[in-house]
Amino acid sequence: HYYLEQIEANRHLNAFVEVFSAEAVESARYLDNLRSREGMTGKLHGVVIGIKDVISFKGHKLSASSRILEGFTAIYNASAVQYLLDEGAIIIGRQNCDEFAMGSSNENSAYGNVLNAADTSRVPGGSSGGSAVAVQAGLCMVSLGSDTGGSVRQPADFCGILGLKPSYGRISRYGLIAYASSFDQIGIFGINVDDIARVLEVMSGADEFDSTVNDAPVPSAAALNKPDEGIYKLAYFKESLEHPGLDPEIKASFEAFVKRLTAEGHTVEAVDFELLDYVVPTYYILTTAEASSNLSRYDGVKFGHRSGTAGDDLSVFYKQNRSEGFGKEVKRRIMLGTFVLSAGYYDAYYTKAQQVRQLLSQKTQAIFSQYNAILSPTVPSPAFRFGEKSNDPIEMFLADIYTVFANLVGIPGISLPLFKHSNGMPFGMQVMTSQMDEVTLLRLSKRLM
Ligand code: GLN
Repeated sequence: HYYLEQIEANRHLNAFVEVFSAEAVESARYLDNLRSREGMTGKLHGVVIGIKDVISFKGHKLSASSRILEGFTAIYNASAVQYLLDEGAIIIGRQNCDEFAMGSSNENSAYGNVLNAADTSRVPGGSSGGSAVAVQAGLCMVSLGSDTGGSVRQPADFCGILGLKPSYGRISRYGLIAYASSFDQIGIFGINVDDIARVLEVMSGADEFDSTVNDAPVPSAAALNKPDEGIYKLAYFKESLEHPGLDPEIKASFEAFVKRLTAEGHTVEAVDFELLDYVVPTYYILTTAEASSNLSRYDGVKFGHRSGTAGDDLSVFYKQNRSEGFGKEVKRRIMLGTFVLSAGYYDAYYTKAQQVRQLLSQKTQAIFSQYNAILSPTVPSPAFRFGEKSNDPIEMFLADIYTVFANLVGIPGISLPLFKHSNGMPFGMQVMTSQMDEVTLLRLSKRLM
């Protein structure tokens, strides 16, 4: 009831596209009874969780915040959702996001903008903007987002909360609407490390419906409670602080933080990473290529909106359905992806980008053979105002420079809300560890918070 009241009082933020009010209350009652009668509690007994509108919850609408999926109802639970429910979580609603998780500001949603609760003239970040704001404004305890290139870490940064993108393969993607399948990962928003660790533990691990899930041991939340007196060896990319778009205050805060860590006895070193300039182009070539393929299923036959005016011609029929159903940013990416995959351009773009991705992985492994973690700002600038960047997609893409790296190489990353800008907005720092090493990531995060 408390969270439902908070949601009601904060409707103007537009964080939720649908609230499962009656059902949430019913689950809460059921869980109360279960505990009082049988003393049974799960690891998430009564924990109120919101889910981004790209994650399947059986019997509930699911639209990727797109007109093309208007009216679609999920016919099964995402494995991650099933695991949460099995441990007594209450799913309170479906959260607004950029259409098909494409964007960095939540300005691409069919349901309209989500407002940043710290300053409603500013964007919450994206694409999981609604999920971030729901936690920021106290509308649920934890939210699930998805992170293909920063969509959990970047809005967490803009909203002053924590946002974790687990390793690729940590959490099953079964029931997560695909954007770019070799990048996508369900992520978690919370207000402290322990909450995130608990939810991660529950959602992690093998799943017969997703063969890309890694069988590494599930990171246990209890591991965080052991005292951590460790001295860490940390790296940051020299080039990341030389980035021309980096806000001077963010740079200064980062440098001051590095000094503090050094004073505490940790080693923090700048390493050369000449490939940094290539991460954004590589990311946008590969993800749009994958998206153009993944989104071909929304044709008005298998899935999606069917135009009332489509005639008998099949190609006209598809064209009409997709023209009406998809928004501008999604169309831009389908075209870009189709282009980089097309005969004549494939080798110059797609193959090249795959090669860069391979190089990035090798270089990253070399870094983790010497360091426990990599630090960076999460985003080069704090939350911007609505409309400020929406007319310049390239500028919007370039702001993903610090987050896309982790998805390209499959490592876990978290944004920690450590700083405040003189303009009043919060911003964070990103920590990344080697693949499947969430335990170090979360232990170190606890130390840094
Ligand atoms: N901003 C990035 C993009 O638009 C990240 C999106 C995401 O992680 N889903 O592709």
